[in-house]
Amino acid sequence: MALVNTKKMFEMAYKNGYAVGAFNVNNMEITQGIIDAVAEEKAPLILQVSRGGRKYASLSYLRAIIDVVVEENPDIPVAINLDHGDNFETCKQFVDAGFTSVMIDASKQPFEENIKVTKQVVEYAHPRDVVVEAELGQLGGIEEDVVGVEDVSKHVADPNQVVEFVEKSGCDSLAVACGTSHGAYKFKSEPKLAFDVIQEIGDRLPGFPLVMHGSSSVLREFVDLINKYGGDMPNAMGVPEESVSKAAKLGICKVNIDTDLRLALTAKIRQVFAEIPGEFDPRKYLGPGREAIREMVRHKLHVVGCAGKAAECM
Ligand SMILES: [Zn+2]
Repeated sequence: MALVNTKKMFEMAYKNGYAVGAFNVNNMEITQGIIDAVAEEKAPLILQVSRGGRKYASLSYLRAIIDVVVEENPDIPVAINLDHGDNFETCKQFVDAGFTSVMIDASKQPFEENIKVTKQVVEYAHPRDVVVEAELGQLGGIEEDVVGVEDVSKHVADPNQVVEFVEKSGCDSLAVACGTSHGAYKFKSEPKLAFDVIQEIGDRLPGFPLVMHGSSSVLREFVDLINKYGGDMPNAMGVPEESVSKAAKLGICKVNIDTDLRLALTAKIRQVFAEIPGEFDPRKYLGPGREAIREMVRHKLHVVGCAGKAAECM
């Protein structure tokens, strides 16, 4: 059993200048693709469950899938995180359900209220050895039912507020607005991450792990495949992978990646349907889809730099 919280992972990630990839669990094939890649690359792993995922598959199914991942991979440190918990009760429920990390997202609340509810979650989670990710500032784009601001460049986190927030709330990691955005249609032009802000926060909170949401790169190759095989995704654009790699060296310890996995799966399934119109065995398109997830995750583990780091994070 290598079910862990993210403490050691973030400590090593911070020290050695990489980030741990966090991937959403929505069904069996996606999760198998993720763990196959992680096992092959010997990387630490954060699996997370969002509200949309629970609505789609139910927590009990997702939890059972995660349990198999943990059981079958004793050499891989696996943390399980609640993604975007919206209030204390939800976070409490996930702490009680055995999650090792919870995110409380009260970023839409006023600053003081955000501190207050985050602190409440911290006080419940810490005695149970569960870590807490919080969010400050407004992320852009749309992630399931989490709707962000329109122009992310105007909503970059204020380092003064970050320091005060971390000190008062006691959170273990923080998602900061630094120019990223959720989804596949997030930018009108290539985005510039606010590296100066990330750097300043790093200088003022040495050793403190930051988290990047909305950091899929929406790789052209996969959008083109989707469009080639009958899809219609004009103008999809993401965060360049070089920017993600650079952020990982500056104190970003967790990078959430979901959209790029969805694109890989969708592109592959569309290809099978286009090339073999008579195919009706789900295993014959979900199988290749799972394989596409595996390849994408392997690639991403190198982008964030956590390939080969499983052992040091145990
Ligand atoms: Zn998010």
